[in-house]
Amino acid sequence: MNNLLSIEHLSTHFYTEEGTVKAVDDISFRVKPGETVCIVGESGCGKSITAMSIMGLIQSPGGKVAGGSIRFEGTDLLELGRNEMRTIRGHDISMIFQEPMSSLNPVLTIGEQLCEPLMEHLKLGRKEARKRALELIEQVGMSRPEQILKSYPHELSGGMLQRIMIAIAVSCGPKLLIADEPTTALDVTIQAQILDMLRELKARSHMSLMLITHDLGVVAEMADYVIVMYAGKIVEEGEVVQLFNHPQHPYTQGLLKSKPVLNQRQKELYSIPGQVPNPLELTASCYFHDRCAQCMDICRVKEPALKEVSAQQKAACWLYEEAVVHG
Ligand code: SF4
Ligand code: MG
Repeated sequence: MNNLLSIEHLSTHFYTEEGTVKAVDDISFRVKPGETVCIVGESGCGKSITAMSIMGLIQSPGGKVAGGSIRFEGTDLLELGRNEMRTIRGHDISMIFQEPMSSLNPVLTIGEQLCEPLMEHLKLGRKEARKRALELIEQVGMSRPEQILKSYPHELSGGMLQRIMIAIAVSCGPKLLIADEPTTALDVTIQAQILDMLRELKARSHMSLMLITHDLGVVAEMADYVIVMYAGKIVEEGEVVQLFNHPQHPYTQGLLKSKPVLNQRQKELYSIPGQVPNPLELTASCYFHDRCAQCMDICRVKEPALKEVSAQQKAACWLYEEAVVHG
């Protein structure tokens, strides 16, 4: 199957007074049509920056995509101009964030905000846009759509706002939806409803979903394919069942140990000892070595490459390098 999105050797850097932060450091991955790819990792591992890079939203004066390519249906998004990119964003690729409030305009009604992309990207007239907006509100599982259209953001709950954001994001029928921690700010019941709804929308439209999360419960429920990031790099990736049943990288193994068990009150949640390294102090090494119980000499001085460890799985770890293990 052809890839919808194909990322090769993407690097996104931020240039600070103290030095260069390689927030995303030479990562490659693919998203197929209709597939859900989850990117998982602790905060600061580069997952949101990866999403912002795809969307062309790395705009801070000190940050830029420093290398690689982001091909969407064969076109390198990095070579597009501002206007071409704006057309793709919102039409072919859209994104939702953790905080719906931050993406909605507090002084415009939900109706105005929902109709705008329909009129801009799909060139619908005001009446048609309104009709479509009402349908969308029903599709994201909200009752009394007429009432909702007239509301302002502050009149709705967090869960309702996230539904609205999803309605806006899918309004133009994107081929790829990028969701960055879409349920993190919501309580557990609402989380489950939103995930169900995303799955339904996906099934109906055959869109692909790139879901960013630090929550392995969400990954288990949603993913076809999982990418584990650590300190700007991909340290492991694979099909969800394979990766959950046979995690190979010590970091993935640690993450899976720290996964809360449903319906089981745990006195203490396992957390991986140690801290994510300071991005300004990284040297050639496995960036996880300070926290790894299986660390060997080579791990401190040489970076392991991401390699196939089984048919559906890759890991970047010296444990799987024959030459090291077997002398
Ligand atoms: Fe641990 Fe070494 Fe593997 Fe890094 S490369 S995860 S330090 S064993
Ligand atoms: Mg983030």
